[in-house]
Amino acid sequence: MQWRNYEMNKNIISIENITKDYGTVKALDSVTFSLDHGKELAVMGPSGSGKTTLINLIAGLDSPSSGKIIVNGIVLNNRSQEELSLFRRENVGIIFQQFYLIPYLNALENIMLAQYFHSMTDKKEALQALEMVGLSERAGHLPSQMSGGEQQRVAIARAIINDPGIILADEPTGNLDEENERIVLSLLRKLKDKGKTLIYVTHNPYTVANSDEILRLEHGRIKQEEPVRYRKIV
Ligand code: ADP
Ligand code: MG
Repeated sequence: MQWRNYEMNKNIISIENITKDYGTVKALDSVTFSLDHGKELAVMGPSGSGKTTLINLIAGLDSPSSGKIIVNGIVLNNRSQEELSLFRRENVGIIFQQFYLIPYLNALENIMLAQYFHSMTDKKEALQALEMVGLSERAGHLPSQMSGGEQQRVAIARAIINDPGIILADEPTGNLDEENERIVLSLLRKLKDKGKTLIYVTHNPYTVANSDEILRLEHGRIKQEEPVRYRKIV
């Protein structure tokens, strides 16, 4: 199994006819799409439309009920928890709406913990990651001593510390004010400019205007938009 071979896989994410059932609820229903490496994809849709389910499936945090998911050349179906965790460790950085920092570890330690789970800690690199998100001054602060925007920036530093090719963000600015939303989004774009593939869930129409592609979900299905030229004029 090959893990870090991004250049070789132009098509880094391939979702083929994915369905995800939770009991009688179809969280995703026959979803098919693919994404090239280095692109920015915005996922939109009302609450309950399947956005988080889709991010979780690409992250290898959950498995589809049917259909096929290939990420960076790796088929994610029928994998053991160990294999999925290895996949995540090497391929994806995940950012959640709720930050999920460890409350009793400071900013630097939160990042170093991710290094520890990947391979070994490297304080200098962890400090560089904090610098990249503009938080060198906050290295010794606990999450409770930081604003929401600062906590999310630490979470971004944590997501990129092991240099994954793919960044997944589920409503990363959902808990932030406008100013912090702007900072967080510009950081995510910076990662894209460094060659990462970026997939994020957002409700902000201004944000998606600059993304390479937009995926709209509705009741677990991709909402097909008619090209303008085919729309009936009534
Ligand atoms: P979104 O992120 O777009 O708000 P979700 O992907 O979280 O939507 O959820 C899609 C649908 O699947 C919803 O109807 C939700 O209630 C259901 N769902 C999501 N996760 C679970 C779960 N673990 N168990 C049962 N139902 C779930
Ligand atoms: Mg969600």
